[in-house]
Amino acid sequence: MGRFWFAIPLWQRVIAALALGIVTGLLWGPEAQSIKIIGDIFIAFIKMLVVPLIFFSLVSGVAAIGDLRKLGAVGGRAALLFLVTGQIAVWLGLALGTLLTPGVGLDVSAIERGPIPEPAQTGWRDMLLSIVPQSPVQVMADVNVLPLIVFALLVGIGILMSGKEGEPVAKIFDSGSIVMQKVTAVVMELTPFGVFALMAWVAGTQGTDALLALAKLVGLNYLGCLLIIFVMYSAIIKLLAKLPVVDFFRGIVDAMAVAYSTASSNATLPVTLRCTQRNLGVSSSVSSFIVSLGATVNMNGTAMYLGLATLFGAQIFGVDLSWGDYFMISILATAGAIGAAGIPGAGLIMMALVFGAVGVPLETIALVAGVDRIMDMMRTVTNVSGDAAITVAVASMTNEIDREEMISADDV
Ligand code: ASP
Repeated sequence: MGRFWFAIPLWQRVIAALALGIVTGLLWGPEAQSIKIIGDIFIAFIKMLVVPLIFFSLVSGVAAIGDLRKLGAVGGRAALLFLVTGQIAVWLGLALGTLLTPGVGLDVSAIERGPIPEPAQTGWRDMLLSIVPQSPVQVMADVNVLPLIVFALLVGIGILMSGKEGEPVAKIFDSGSIVMQKVTAVVMELTPFGVFALMAWVAGTQGTDALLALAKLVGLNYLGCLLIIFVMYSAIIKLLAKLPVVDFFRGIVDAMAVAYSTASSNATLPVTLRCTQRNLGVSSSVSSFIVSLGATVNMNGTAMYLGLATLFGAQIFGVDLSWGDYFMISILATAGAIGAAGIPGAGLIMMALVFGAVGVPLETIALVAGVDRIMDMMRTVTNVSGDAAITVAVASMTNEIDREEMISADDV
């Protein structure tokens, strides 16, 4: 039995679990809530990996890259791609919302309203300060990814500056990084069970009434995300990374499935790291740097959705938007996507930021809250695939990818 199970590649087991979870949830109904605990245990295990994995692999990666200018080139290219793809994503959301009008003629009286979350803290002073790892231990305890990246980069730079005397510490991080990769491999074996339970829970507990009433918005959210993934990311892989698109998607299937079922970029981070390193052959220095940064700041699905949802609210409540408002939305939605944490429902909180600036009532958030999880799952797949696509593109541009090692996902 065990031999038969392990003979099937992990990604196939994960996809089967995803499909089976949906069917089970639909047949079982709200009772499926009872197995959500299996999904929660799975998420807790992968979250456990986030801090040690980023810390060990980023420090060892920076020390291995050896050349700080190269690190700057990697970071600069990634930041540029994050910004450009984010802008394209918002404008896609605005275009879909304008042309296909999800909020026009909608009878909102039948929709059950959810709670309106507290608006996010957006002061730029606070944001800047929150990136400084004032207490590294606290940062690790809070699983706060951005300051952790800053701390790991600084420790890596310190090792480089120490020359021979830093070598023993570098060795500890190299070896720690290898050990954590093995731990990740073990935890990944839980993926089919976690994905199954989470999908059964979502499919069993999602009310169909709200879903039917908001079907157009939900459909456009999926359409926008699919366009970003299969058009924009395919173009990045083909034109910038110069790699076969099908191999890329096969290599990140696990990350996509985990993103879909957990709706959390942060929780998916260890899986994205493993996919980019092991299946796509990206060096651990580049992958650990860009994937962890991307998980917190690169959210194209969220950016697209913020544009789309603002138009949805404007159409429902009859708010006229000028071209100036569109530009305002494009800037704020990008900022919102950067500021949103990689956790479930983060995009919903960021809506308040955009809505407030262009006069769309916050009531819109209450209207969509009931179906947000279903949309969030697809946004997260888009966000995570974007991190992987940009990581592969930058690795390819900076010669940090081993094309030979880009193994076919059949062997995974
Ligand atoms: N849940 C998304 C993520 O983790 C963020 C969002 O809500 O859009 O990437």
